Amino acid sequence: MIYLDANATTPVDPAVLEAMLPFLRDYFANPSAAHAGGRTASRAVQRAREQTAALLHAQPDEMIFTSGGTESINAVHASVRALWPERPYLIITGTEHPAVMESAERWRKQGGNVIQAPVHGDGRVDLDALRTLVRSGSVALVSIMWANNETGVIAPMREIVEIAHAAGALVHTDAVQAAGKIPLDVEAMPVDFLSLSGHKMHAPKGIGALYVSRRVRFEPLIVGGGQEKGRRSGTENVPGIVALGMAADLAQQHFNDGTKARIHAMRDRFEHLVHAAFPDMRVHGCHTHRLHHTSSFCLPEIDAAGMLILLDKAGVACSAGSACHSGSLHSSSVLGAMGISARDAACTLRVSFHRFNTKPEAEEAAHKVIECAHKLRAERGDDGMVVTH
Ligand code: PLP
Repeated sequence: MIYLDANATTPVDPAVLEAMLPFLRDYFANPSAAHAGGRTASRAVQRAREQTAALLHAQPDEMIFTSGGTESINAVHASVRALWPERPYLIITGTEHPAVMESAERWRKQGGNVIQAPVHGDGRVDLDALRTLVRSGSVALVSIMWANNETGVIAPMREIVEIAHAAGALVHTDAVQAAGKIPLDVEAMPVDFLSLSGHKMHAPKGIGALYVSRRVRFEPLIVGGGQEKGRRSGTENVPGIVALGMAADLAQQHFNDGTKARIHAMRDRFEHLVHAAFPDMRVHGCHTHRLHHTSSFCLPEIDAAGMLILLDKAGVACSAGSACHSGSLHSSSVLGAMGISARDAACTLRVSFHRFNTKPEAEEAAHKVIECAHKLRAERGDDGMVVTH
């Protein structure tokens, strides 16, 4: 199987697994315990906090360990809404992940107002529109993802922060797809909150972190035993935390060892081969501000759901640009917000590479995509697609 679905989840790095195993097997004590075992676990958590903070250029006490990206995002929205009722507005974009979309929906149901700032056709937020929207003075939070999970488009975070802060609003960024892929520096780009997730950066599922700047107040979403200095209760997931710390360390090392350039070249080679066979292929999103490992592309009139089945049989794991529900395709809201038609969205595939992929795999996957697309076109013609809105 050639695994090209890293934006869904990444394989656990063997070094990460090695780092976490002792905390499942030997050092299983509760980090709150007063005995030696507890102290060992507690030191490991502290070390991981330092490693995770270093990935963001944050201070260790600004990091809260959570169960993942979804929890971090929900916690930020709930905290800002609770602590700042006099500012009822939340601004997001139409290209956010469902974790942000649904959390925003709850903000609205609880009496707040949510505005979706428009994005350009290349997937980047319209900064002039954002500037106008935040001017009212009643915006509490601007919550815009740093990099998009479907297209890989990277947001103009510096400008977003400047615009929001100038209007007195706070900034949260869902950096689940950006963390570990591009350098993130909360000193240089002073977001107030940042969410990240272990399983998108070669750590296991079920562990994540939330950065909360020292400048801002925070009210916990989960209360109980007072762990994480009362900001996230529940006995710590020590193996997961250790894994996240190691994954953060490794990600930093890989920023400087040519890994990014290697993956970038692999992705570009893949796109080049498919494009050579299908000149009408269209790659979605801003080409200059795009994660180096992601490719979201449309092969016009070639049904992505059918492609996924053929590719799966051919040993290539990737995703469609649309969500599949009960056998029909629902157009991707991300692509829709970028002005891409439902028909083109239904013909969109997403491949996302990771550091264990190789160039021969990228080339083989491209050939399989070409083969499957020819097959589908020959079998189905143009009218094999079921598209619902
Ligand atoms: N945000 C983005 C952009 C994502 O891609 C994901 C995962 O798919 C999440 C949030 C949710 O993260 P988690 O799976 O850790 O809850």
